[in-house]
Amino acid sequence: NRSRILNLGAGPSSLPTSVLLQSAQDLLDYKGTGIGLCELSHRSGTFKQILDSAESDLRSLLSIPEDYAVLFTQGGGTEQFSATALNLLAYDAARHGRAPGTLDYAVTGSWSSKAIKEGERMGGRVKAVTDSKKRDGKFGRIAPIEEWELSPASECAMLYYCDNETVDGVEFPSPGLPIHQLPDDYRKNVPIVADCSSNILSRPIDVAAHSLIFFGAQKNVGPPGVTILIARKSLLARHPDESIPFGGPRIPTTLVYKNLADNSSLYNTPPMFSIHVSGLVFRHLIEQGGVKGAEQRSSEKAQLVYSTIDESKGFYEGTTSATSRSRMNVTFRIKGGDDGLEGKFVEFCKERGIEQVKGHRSVGGIRASLYNAISVDDAKRLVEAMREFCGQHS
Ligand code: PMP
Repeated sequence: NRSRILNLGAGPSSLPTSVLLQSAQDLLDYKGTGIGLCELSHRSGTFKQILDSAESDLRSLLSIPEDYAVLFTQGGGTEQFSATALNLLAYDAARHGRAPGTLDYAVTGSWSSKAIKEGERMGGRVKAVTDSKKRDGKFGRIAPIEEWELSPASECAMLYYCDNETVDGVEFPSPGLPIHQLPDDYRKNVPIVADCSSNILSRPIDVAAHSLIFFGAQKNVGPPGVTILIARKSLLARHPDESIPFGGPRIPTTLVYKNLADNSSLYNTPPMFSIHVSGLVFRHLIEQGGVKGAEQRSSEKAQLVYSTIDESKGFYEGTTSATSRSRMNVTFRIKGGDDGLEGKFVEFCKERGIEQVKGHRSVGGIRASLYNAISVDDAKRLVEAMREFCGQHS
């Protein structure tokens, strides 16, 4: 059955079949020990090996410099909306010996919108340096950095952005946020934080230009449950009592980045299964030509689908402007957003074994997600269905 189905879900999403077969075996009996993976102690040497090899493969895939820690935690991208704000506020106040500065957010889609709201809930003074929806009435185009209204560098605790907006199909064009275009003093002094939950490992990223990169696993990496942080080690300093200096709140222990690092991601029980499967996915990706290979395939897949949209004479209409189109989540409407026809398209795909192409409930329309486990041939299969449907209904 599995081989018949093409799952284009936005996450949790498709994982390589070979990885799942191996994981199923390991869940039952890890390497002939007679003990299943989730029955091991998380403090055993066996699990330490799993953790170490996942980390080292991720380091090699993303060329992570030595002065960065790789941390495995839980709580999803959503918990990082709180954790990034809390840690960066604490870091900023401790570093400058004053009340915490402003949290700058580039609001380019639904997920960065949620992040800024949470930053404010955590007590941060927040600023939307750009807000596509305020400007255009919808999330579809990322404004160039020259148009961003950044806080003064000396008063700014972080610049936060989401590299790929999963709901809206908006992505920073390759190679990613053009950090070199930020003013010199800002670039040198303000920690840059990226949510790469839905496009990590689909192209290289300049880790050294960031203070923190985080991503939930359930798209390009592995099963839901683990959230991975790549954190500059100098950021891991904290106030001795783990509270935000100058009267700010205490930070929950499991959210303090330094605690995660000091305990090598084993402060408490980690999501062992998700970490193991993620490790298998890293190994699989290395065998498939690493991130460069994924980048090449991602461009090819996205190109196939976007050109089908562009050639449909308006039958399909992309929701995102050409310069901000996501390679991971292709979002489009049919005949100007005809609900009936969009519903028919979802059914039409289903009949052909193509599942989960309905757009996010908040925006409607169609969304086809082309994560790393989706092959170029899979994208061709989608394109064929799109052409056939257009032929029948245009
Ligand atoms: N950021 C992005 C870009 C996402 O796509 C998602 C989830 N789809 C999240 C954050 C939130 O992740 P979670 O549901 O794991 O909290």
